[in-house]
Amino acid sequence: ERIVEIEKFNAEEVTETSLRPSAWNDYIGQEQIKKNLGVFIEASSKRGEALDHVLFYGPPGLGKTTLALIIANEMGSNIKVTAAPMIEKSGDLAAILTNLEEGDILFIDEIHRLSPAVEEILYPSMEDFRLDIIIGSGPAAQTVKIDLPRFTLIGATTRAGMLSNPLRDRFGMNFRMQFYTPDELCSIITQAAIKLGKNIDKDAANEIAKRSRGTPRIALRLLKRVRDFADVANESTILHERSRYALDQLGINANGFDEMDIRLLKLLMEAKGRAMGLSTIAAALSEDEGTIEDVLEPYLLANGYLERTARGRVATPKTYELLKFGTPQIGLF
Ligand code: ATP
Repeated sequence: ERIVEIEKFNAEEVTETSLRPSAWNDYIGQEQIKKNLGVFIEASSKRGEALDHVLFYGPPGLGKTTLALIIANEMGSNIKVTAAPMIEKSGDLAAILTNLEEGDILFIDEIHRLSPAVEEILYPSMEDFRLDIIIGSGPAAQTVKIDLPRFTLIGATTRAGMLSNPLRDRFGMNFRMQFYTPDELCSIITQAAIKLGKNIDKDAANEIAKRSRGTPRIALRLLKRVRDFADVANESTILHERSRYALDQLGINANGFDEMDIRLLKLLMEAKGRAMGLSTIAAALSEDEGTIEDVLEPYLLANGYLERTARGRVATPKTYELLKFGTPQIGLF
């Protein structure tokens, strides 16, 4: 019997959970990752061993948690899902680890946020499946070693760069999550619409896909809002026209930019080709630097709307072209 414990809960996440694919083949996209993982899963199953520790990194909402759940499903393993901010003390982690059974999977989201003290006890646990606990203090302090079952740690992070080297080195596999193509998102949307009990027209699904910043979580959120518009209009099938109208009402630009993207790109264009530093951007947008770097920028970078130079960020000609802002007069400053 599989146990799935999701410890972080909010209303949006509950519906999200119900839209989660659970079978390997229902997980759309990330083909290269799936191909490699498939080999490693098969090999470890053949040897009757736990899978080596896995790290997923990339922008939020690309399906890291979902993939971890699917790996557990594929391996027939129990999985415990948690996030680094919930593991405050080393005792919290010790409690989690000692409760694991042979072959279990432990999923830690936002793993770059573990405190140094917690990381310290994670190292030997990952490497030697051993817990070193220090009891008492001063000269009377004693280290107690506890053997742990062989488990698989799956870590997820939006910022691989913020992981300490010793932690990163202890993952046997490292996978960078890719943005999804409109076609892949289209399939995800259609699959989810069926689960929501709604028909969706191919063009309508495509319209949502194009405006979802390559991100399933956004696609699903938009699908639910578009469905609201269709329900209010008493339409049993979500049609192209309705989805376009709904997305426009939601302020989602036809190129898939949302309001924050446009504010960021406009800010850069107003600088007329001068590079702008992250802290300046953060101050101008009243947004924290981490959100800009982890959430906003990756999609714009991946699609060539923004460039990072040594001196800061600049909008690309593609952006000026698209947002009809006139070509920058570089060199005037
Ligand atoms: P975070 O790191 O912020 O937790 P995440 O990358 O783990 O985000 P998930 O929570 O796994 O993202 O995915 C968001 C939603 O998108 C899920 O509800 C899931 O249903 C859906 N989803 C993600 N990837 C896929 C996929 N490849 N195929 C189908 N649905 C997907």
